[in-house]
Amino acid sequence: LVSREVKPEDSLVRVGDLTLGGAAIHVIAGPCSVESREQIISTAQAVKQAGATMLRGGAFKPRTSPYEFQGLKGDGLALLAEARKETGLLVTTEVKDTATLDSVAQHTDILQVGARNMQNFSLLEAVGETRKPVLLKRGISATIKELLMAAEYIVARGNTQVILCERGIRTFENMTRNTLDLNAVPMLKALTHLPVFVDPSHGIGVRKAVPAMMRAAVAAGADGLIVEVHPDPPRARSDGFQSLDFSEFEKAMGEVRAIAQAM
Ligand code: PEP
Ligand code: MN
Repeated sequence: LVSREVKPEDSLVRVGDLTLGGAAIHVIAGPCSVESREQIISTAQAVKQAGATMLRGGAFKPRTSPYEFQGLKGDGLALLAEARKETGLLVTTEVKDTATLDSVAQHTDILQVGARNMQNFSLLEAVGETRKPVLLKRGISATIKELLMAAEYIVARGNTQVILCERGIRTFENMTRNTLDLNAVPMLKALTHLPVFVDPSHGIGVRKAVPAMMRAAVAAGADGLIVEVHPDPPRARSDGFQSLDFSEFEKAMGEVRAIAQAM
């Protein structure tokens, strides 16, 4: 179902009044985790001002260590709803498991399925039963084929609103957090009609290098980006080392717009 052989024309994903996968590049931006009202609302205002069309923020965080900040959970969802109301930005947040799917779905415009859950088939089936757009992130060690088959699980249940997201894969290279596989962008665009987004933040995991990968992703043909932005990255409760501050994000957005216009 996700193959371009079956459906040659691009699929458009509609989120509120936005159309993803069409001519315009969309940028989803915001903190890794929702931390406080002040943090999420100030970030929402700043990213909107810089040209982002959606807000991201984790409420249920799948952290590598059980002793790390796990997110504000339900309170985080409520704060995202407030930021949405305040700024009009649509919201993307991660759904970590089937138990919290209903409450997450009520508070978000896009359901994010994280890299660690790309092959959680019960979760894929459950989000496939909803009619909410899904941002499906590539697993840390998943092949392009496996990503496509994970998307197939969702679409097979009747939810055709799927966006694929390249977010870096694990390689022998350890100077960066992951290796952003930009090869995946033209490959996916050829293999599937679904929109393809790139997450340069997790993809490289080095704050100063994120803008270069934002530009590269757009040049490679991505339909959009999801970028971590925080008011004070060194103080972030998760992923501060890869989060842009407001002025870095604004500058990078100007560069991205120039590349998008030149294409
Ligand atoms: C995130 O977006 O903060 C996240 C946890 O991403 P991933 O699932 O790609 O690691
Ligand atoms: Mn993160």
